[in-house]
Order: sequence, then C-alpha cells, then structure tokens
Amino acid sequence: MNPREFRIGILGGGQLAKMTAISARKLGFEVLTLDPSPEPPASQVAKHIMGDFRNPKDVRKFSYMCEVMILDIENVSVEDFYASEEYVAKKLIPSPEVMLKIKDKFIQKKIVSENNVPTPRFDNFPPLKERFDFPVVQKLRTGGYDGRGVKIINSEREFILDKGTYLEEFVNIKKELASIVAIDRRGSYVVYPVVEMVFDRKANILDYLVVPARIPKDVEEEAKKVALRSAQSFGSPGIFAVEMFWCDDGVLFNEIAPRPHNSGHYTIEACYTSQFEQIVRIAVGLPLGSPELISPCVMINLLGEGEGTPYYEGLEEVLSIPGVSIHIYGKSRVFPFRKMGHITILDKDVESAIEKAKFVKSKVKVKGK
Ligand code: ADP
Repeated sequence: MNPREFRIGILGGGQLAKMTAISARKLGFEVLTLDPSPEPPASQVAKHIMGDFRNPKDVRKFSYMCEVMILDIENVSVEDFYASEEYVAKKLIPSPEVMLKIKDKFIQKKIVSENNVPTPRFDNFPPLKERFDFPVVQKLRTGGYDGRGVKIINSEREFILDKGTYLEEFVNIKKELASIVAIDRRGSYVVYPVVEMVFDRKANILDYLVVPARIPKDVEEEAKKVALRSAQSFGSPGIFAVEMFWCDDGVLFNEIAPRPHNSGHYTIEACYTSQFEQIVRIAVGLPLGSPELISPCVMINLLGEGEGTPYYEGLEEVLSIPGVSIHIYGKSRVFPFRKMGHITILDKDVESAIEKAKFVKSKVKVKGK
C-alpha cells in the first residue's frame, strides 16, 4: 500500500484529533479534519477543512474527500443522520449505530449488562423494577461529562424531576479504574493495562492517573475482562475506553466511550503502541500493535487557570527532568479548567512517578493574558 494515497478524515479538530493525526502522519497517511473553528489543535498537523461536523451537508461533502472517517468527539448530535446516510455510515468507525447507543448512558448500561457485564443496579427514573435505598445516584442519560449530570440523592425531595435521567445504586468505590480496548475490523482485539484514576473531589476532575493501577492481580484480570466484554457488546471495530469501579462486590462497569480517551493518553510514551496509532491501524486495516506497558507512569492534565490567550509557565523547570514528557494542544484560548495539554511522567515505579508528578504539577501553570 501507499499511505499517501489513503486519506483519513477526522470529525472534529480537538486534541484527540491532533494526537491521532500525529500517529497517522508517522505511518505516512494523509489526514483531513472537519471543524468549525478556523485553527483547532489538529490544524497544526492535518489538512484542515472548515465546516461543522454537526451539519449533515458539511459531513457529506467531507466524506467524499476521504477513504475512512474516525471521531474526535462522539457527541456529534447528528448520529441519526450518519446512520441514515449509507455512504457516510460505511466510512465511519465506530459505526453510527454504536454512537447512537453509547450516546445514552442508560442504553449503554442496558447493553453491557445484557452481555453479562456486572454494573451497579440501575433503572429508569421513576424506577420501574428496582427498589433503591438512599443515597441513590441520579444521572443524565445524555450530555453529562466530568461529573456534570451526576447527582447523589439523599432524600425523596432531592430528585430532579426529569425523564432524561436514570437511577443507579450508590456503590462504595475502592478505586476508579479504566482500560482501553482496541478491536479491529476482523474482530481481533487487544486490551491495554488497567489504569487507576485519582480524582480531585472538590473540583470533581481527574487529579492524576497511575499505571499500572495499584490493585491485586486478580482484580486487574477481572477489570480487563469487564473492559473487553463491555467493548465487545457493541459489535463494532474501534477504540473503546471503559471506566470501571472496584467495589466490595468486585469490578463493575461504569461507562464507555467509543474513541481514544484521556485515560489512554499515557500510551503514547508508556506502551509499545499508543491508542492513537491503534485507531489509525484499525481505520486503514493494518494489524493491531502490542499494548504492553514499557514503563510505570503517571499522567496529569494541564488545566487552564486563567482566561484569554494562553501563557505557559514553569516549562523550563520541568523539561530537564528525566521521563517528563509534555503535550501542549495548541488551543488559541484558555479558560478555567479547560484541558490545555497533559504531561506523562515515566519512572522505575509508580511511587517515584507520583512524587515527580506532584512537583511538575506545582510548577507548570496555564494562565491567560
Ligand atoms: P461523568 O461521565 O460525568 O464523569 P460518571 O458516571 O463517571 O459521570 O460519574 C462521576 C463520578 O461520580 C464517578 O467518577 C464516581 O466517583 C461517582 N459515581 C458515579 N456513579 C456512582 C455510583 N453508582 N455509586 C457511587 N459513586 C458514583
């Protein structure tokens, strides 16, 4: 094959598109991105087409320009259009039907639990079958992310009277885990190491991510099984990021995303094959690579702390530390908590990597000016 004759289209031009495009470029492929903003992160490394991935006309035109299409963002809001346009649907990984199912957290849970994957008990709101004690968790079916759209309910009068929500048993979480699963067009798969996510409870955001997760071997094996079985429930090729809870009852499925994910950014430096290279290989029909971990590591997100044109502080102080690798997405504006980049820290063990990560975090800031 000649990769230069193969054009990969990415719907959206954010950081996931940028990192995917870098992997595609490494293998020699042409990359096009479709995004409404004039200079999104991926435009630094891909041919950028200005247009809206939520506008069926723009997507149809874009699909004529590439051999295959993948996703930067799954909430494109026109999944039913993608599903109804055979020409578009044929080119898209994952399939639009899968996007439609995963978009709704209640439906995704139903699908994985029908495939015998353990989940917290869940039901419609108001409940039809289950009886829940307080506290109970009420969640938005669509559109929630980073903890928005999740509410812990302690009494009857705290319920949000909204049919677009569902209920879930409150479980005692020991650790929050995640794993990336890659499935190719023939159904071959690889499962990435299990990562441990440590949250900042005040801000409700990921504080740092540790690989490998500090869990017993049998829990790790169980988590890999849950991740694989969840991803396989949807019957589509693609990259699937599966978030899980480790509780007294074992490992439970929490949610799934049908694309490369923040919890897999560490794979760029710490695994033989990154999640981004893997989606490229799946898209063009090349064999999957090994997901094996090369080194323990920690990943931290670089979140905006100011507003305006971004200004990065402290890079000089951390770039000379062995094992520290910085990614700056190149967004033209910063605002508080916006994901502006991430840093991966490799070390001989996770404890040393966590120490280094804390230092790095205290030095590197993204301000606005
Ligand atoms: P989001 O996609 O918005 O981050 P999640 O479903 O991951 O939503 O929930 C956000 C956080 O809320 C989780 O990381 C977890 O800490 C907590 N949480 C979610 N579901 C439950 C549950 N059933 N029991 C206890 N805590 C939960």
